Amino acid sequence: MSDETGSMGLVVVGAAGRMGQTLIRVIAETDGVHLAGAIERAGSPALGKDASMMAGAGESGIIVSDDPLPVFAVADGVLDFTSPTASLEFADLAAQARIVHVLGTTGMAPEHDRRLIAAGRHARIIKSGNMSLGVNLLAVLVRQAARALEAADWDIEVLEMHHRHKVDAPSGTALLLGQAAAQGRGVALDAARVSVRDGHTGPRPEGAIGFATLRGGSVIGEHSVLIAGEGEIIELNHRALDRTIFARGAVKAALWGRSRKPGFYSMLDVLGLAD
Ligand code: NAP
Repeated sequence: MSDETGSMGLVVVGAAGRMGQTLIRVIAETDGVHLAGAIERAGSPALGKDASMMAGAGESGIIVSDDPLPVFAVADGVLDFTSPTASLEFADLAAQARIVHVLGTTGMAPEHDRRLIAAGRHARIIKSGNMSLGVNLLAVLVRQAARALEAADWDIEVLEMHHRHKVDAPSGTALLLGQAAAQGRGVALDAARVSVRDGHTGPRPEGAIGFATLRGGSVIGEHSVLIAGEGEIIELNHRALDRTIFARGAVKAALWGRSRKPGFYSMLDVLGLAD
């Protein structure tokens, strides 16, 4: 809940995760927000620990719990980078508590959006496969390029690389960029998408939007959109050098969402980049 200064109280779910820890540190460094709760799954070794101490951000007195509802009930928003099943449950709880739900989890199926849109009747849900300013700006550029370049002459491929622990592919960011390309061309991504090539594939279908996935090491996230024509290739790239870009974006989204009506929003809305 807002404190006497009006600061926004934020709950971090998945508090012991890579993004959870980064979010706790960024909240501690950001004016206008404070850590109001920290949630992990039942059985997590993080339960009972001081969440901020665990993240290397000093002591906050916020103890990691596995019981989200009472914590959401006294908060203004939740920052969620966990797993698809967990995020759907957190969206329902955020709707019950009528708070802001910033949802960064990737690998969610398209049908999940229906349940999120329903939760958005009461919560303010801001969902994006990438919360960074750079990637959202890149998506706008990809949409423009795809609109300007004929599908018959230009082939679009999205290449991504992430660390070895990542469990979903293509990445949420790759899909966000593919979606931007599909929008630019006025087609549905599902109809144009080619995510796997193996064996005798035959020639490339005209208008396909291809995805290629690399996994290894500790890479935070690298994305390239290649637009290949006869005799020339345009490359639009983004490299994430630090997870704080996503965490800063998530906190910015929470502050933006605080004064909105309930609904289902994207990071493009937050950044003023939506059409
Ligand atoms: P991670 O290190 O595995 O962290 C996820 C955390 O969530 C883990 O601590 C996990 O606990 C916890 N969790 C899972 N289910 C839970 C539940 N029901 N209740 C409470 N906690 C639960 O993964 P990560 O690298 O931080 O990434 C998390 C997600 O964010 C992924 O989907 C990733 O692709 C996405 N991501 C999005 C962006 C963006 O900008 N949108 C940026 C970076 C990452 P256990 O370890 O016990 O399962």
